[in-house]
Amino acid sequence: AAKETQGTMVSVFDQDIEKKFVRRKRIENKLLQADFDTTFSLNYQPVVQMPEGRATGYEALLRWKCPDGTNVSPAEFIPIAESLGLIREIGAWVLKTAIKEALTWPGELRVAVNVSPHQIGTGHLASYVEMLLRESAFPAERLELEFTETVFMRSDHSTLEELARIRAMGIRLVLDDFGIGYSSLSYLDKFSFDKMKLDRSFVTDVTLNPTRAAIVASVVDLAARLDIDLVAEGVETLKDLHFLTGTGVKLGQGFYFARPMPAADLPLLKQPARNSAGS
Ligand code: C2E
Ligand code: MG
Ligand code: MG
Ligand code: MG
Repeated sequence: AAKETQGTMVSVFDQDIEKKFVRRKRIENKLLQADFDTTFSLNYQPVVQMPEGRATGYEALLRWKCPDGTNVSPAEFIPIAESLGLIREIGAWVLKTAIKEALTWPGELRVAVNVSPHQIGTGHLASYVEMLLRESAFPAERLELEFTETVFMRSDHSTLEELARIRAMGIRLVLDDFGIGYSSLSYLDKFSFDKMKLDRSFVTDVTLNPTRAAIVASVVDLAARLDIDLVAEGVETLKDLHFLTGTGVKLGQGFYFARPMPAADLPLLKQPARNSAGS
């Protein structure tokens, strides 16, 4: 009987793997044929000053609507695009589109773009961004590039050099998902970021979990000592907001303030649009 049970479990497991494999293959095929301009779009989520909630800028988050009408999450398709060697082309589309859309925003608002580690290291990213800023006249200081700690996993000299080149242009560098990645503390020592975003996993239920509360307090202290702006990701409730501000976190992002939304729906942008329509 034990054998039988085991056999059944193995076959359920196999079916699960097969389902995942088929889904992945389908996404691979669709990505390889994807027309970026008609199936990709960007949503924007504010990074706000806490507690009042005034936006300091918006993070661009990629959305993909397959021709069959289904939405696939970037958490699923970005790693696939990376393994297919498509991420540089997709990343270039994201950068170009985010800068184009942010051009019309009020001047104090920044735009943050997520960058895959596969996009950096050859010098192409720095050159491409330099070209985009020159052609659009978008101020470098209003652009932020977000990297997760995995950018340091294969960290060769050329990656650090390119990061430094980007920073020297006046672009702000952001360490995304801080705390869940690779050798975070050692790289804080090797490279200086302008901002770090404490991963959502430490913020979720922070008021119920003393360990997370201790981590948040320590990272607030670390960021202050290093003179790096700190953002709490995944702020979902008023309780989270109260705890975070009480602990000294000044910037936040999360569903409590706003969900990611298309550029046309951003609240601060409606006024200038109305003004220009009236003139
Ligand atoms: P991320 O850069 O850490 O972006 C934040 C993610 O958290 C977004 O998921 C956002 O919708 C979600 N989020 C924001 N506030 C809350 C909250 O209060 N609660 C919860 N549960 N979630 C919240 P999204 O848009 O699905 O993106 C997932 C990840 O995909 C991003 O994580 C980023 O790593 C990657 N990604 C998205 N767009 C791009 C892109 O253009 N290029 C690259 N390379 N990666 C991207
Ligand atoms: Mg991000
Ligand atoms: Mg993040
Ligand atoms: Mg995150």
